[in-house]
Amino acid sequence: MPKLDKVYQLFINGEFVEAENKATIDVFNPATGAKLASIAEASKKDVDKAVKAARRAFEKFRFSTVAERAKLLLDIADIIEQNKKWLAQVETMDNGKPIRETMNVDIPFAVEHFRYFAGVIQGEEGTANILHDPLGGDFMSIVLREPIGVVGQIVPWNFPFLMAAWKLAPVIAAGDTSVFKPSSETSLSVLELMKLIQKVLPKGIVNVVTGKGSTTGEFVRTHKGLDKLAFTGSTEIGRSIALAAAEKIIPATLELGGKSANIIFDDADFDKAIDGVQLGILFNQGQVCCAGSRIFVQEGIYDKFIKAIVAKFKKIKVGDPMNPETQMGSQINKKQADKILNYVEIGKKEGAKVLVGGKRAKAGDAFVEPTLLEVSSNSCTVAQEEIFGPVGAVIKFKDEAELIKMVNDSEYGLGGGVFTNDITRALRVSRLMETGRVWINTYNQIPAGCPFGGYKASGIGRETHKMILEHYSQIKNLVIDLKGKESGFYPQ
Ligand code: NAD
Repeated sequence: MPKLDKVYQLFINGEFVEAENKATIDVFNPATGAKLASIAEASKKDVDKAVKAARRAFEKFRFSTVAERAKLLLDIADIIEQNKKWLAQVETMDNGKPIRETMNVDIPFAVEHFRYFAGVIQGEEGTANILHDPLGGDFMSIVLREPIGVVGQIVPWNFPFLMAAWKLAPVIAAGDTSVFKPSSETSLSVLELMKLIQKVLPKGIVNVVTGKGSTTGEFVRTHKGLDKLAFTGSTEIGRSIALAAAEKIIPATLELGGKSANIIFDDADFDKAIDGVQLGILFNQGQVCCAGSRIFVQEGIYDKFIKAIVAKFKKIKVGDPMNPETQMGSQINKKQADKILNYVEIGKKEGAKVLVGGKRAKAGDAFVEPTLLEVSSNSCTVAQEEIFGPVGAVIKFKDEAELIKMVNDSEYGLGGGVFTNDITRALRVSRLMETGRVWINTYNQIPAGCPFGGYKASGIGRETHKMILEHYSQIKNLVIDLKGKESGFYPQ
């Protein structure tokens, strides 16, 4: 097995380079507390250097052919696949998520993503229209899609590698270049990827600047040399990204927080719904933007359902993320675990009943038990605020009218689930939900090719689908006169 480097440098213009002021940040394995490595902290000058490298690369890459870009995407996908085990181990060490998830989800889904965009661009077709105007003009209109330029991309710590794939695949597919900032908590997997693809990636197309949000992130956010910002993270920081984009009059795509509803109707397939609730709130330790964190259960099956889900949550194996048997690893750090447990206390103070869990798990300081809180109202804090942990707020409901009111009473609108065997009801309810994604009889499935993104404070734009390329490019329209000198129709 390869080893982690002691120090990870910045990746600028195809080379690993020290931060200008030599500043570094230590990174730790959240499950054990052991130091893993140090990463460079990019200064303003470093970010500027990365933007300039990306600009130089763009001037060439913008004219690359579809075939060249598709090959690059496929090469990257192959390299990731060949190094799947190592990348999964790095991700697990750095993030605390179970190895069974990094091996089966994070890394393979990243591979799929690069391949999907390679396929999409090769299938592109052009359009040309013949148009006439009221003066008798006769024109051909050709719509060209051109790459947008240098994109500042900032991602969070919950799916470090997968979020990198979600951001970098469209950049390459569109012919753009990137200044990419991972979370300072979890920069190792994308830096390992840069080491692996260094030989196939033309210089300057992807530049990785590591560092804290308040320093390096700010330098990216406010840099005047960018043509677009793409952000995944909290709604709070997302808002500041949107403001920075407005200041520069450049577009921003935002994938932000959520408080998604997972709805279980009386007629649902019982076992499927139980699995759906587990996957909805425990996958990735609940640190999922679209986590099914509000669980609405219809009154007819409520008692039976609660008994079964509590039994299931009690059996979840929480512990060493490197153990293939482990179902839940650690949160990203102790601070996040403390924040989650504080929400449990807030819930209790507001009258919530702890159905299961609610405490720090025995495995360590950063581990939290799978938790369900029964709440009497959707307006309580734990049903309104994003907890970002394995804590579900369970709410009993009577009928659809009451349900829809509660479901839409949220500032967010990212994910959602409907479990029922009545397809008409599933479609009717899905249509009424103010959210960008509804899973029917499943949850947290994220295949490439399905547009993902939020309504309301959950964001702007849709990723994981070819429509994101519209955000990574701009339109140029050529209008060509077909009559020429012979026309003679213009009034003199
Ligand atoms: P965060 O907003 O704190 O940080 C996200 C990224 O922004 C990090 O790289 C961070 O360093 C950087 N950052 C922080 N302050 C910055 C600033 N002032 N300027 C520029 N960059 C800055 O989020 P987080 O805690 O890393 O991740 C959790 C959040 O991400 C949750 O709210 C979650 O819902 C959201 N998220 C959303 C999606 C989605 O697709 N909608 C996916 C994953 C996570």
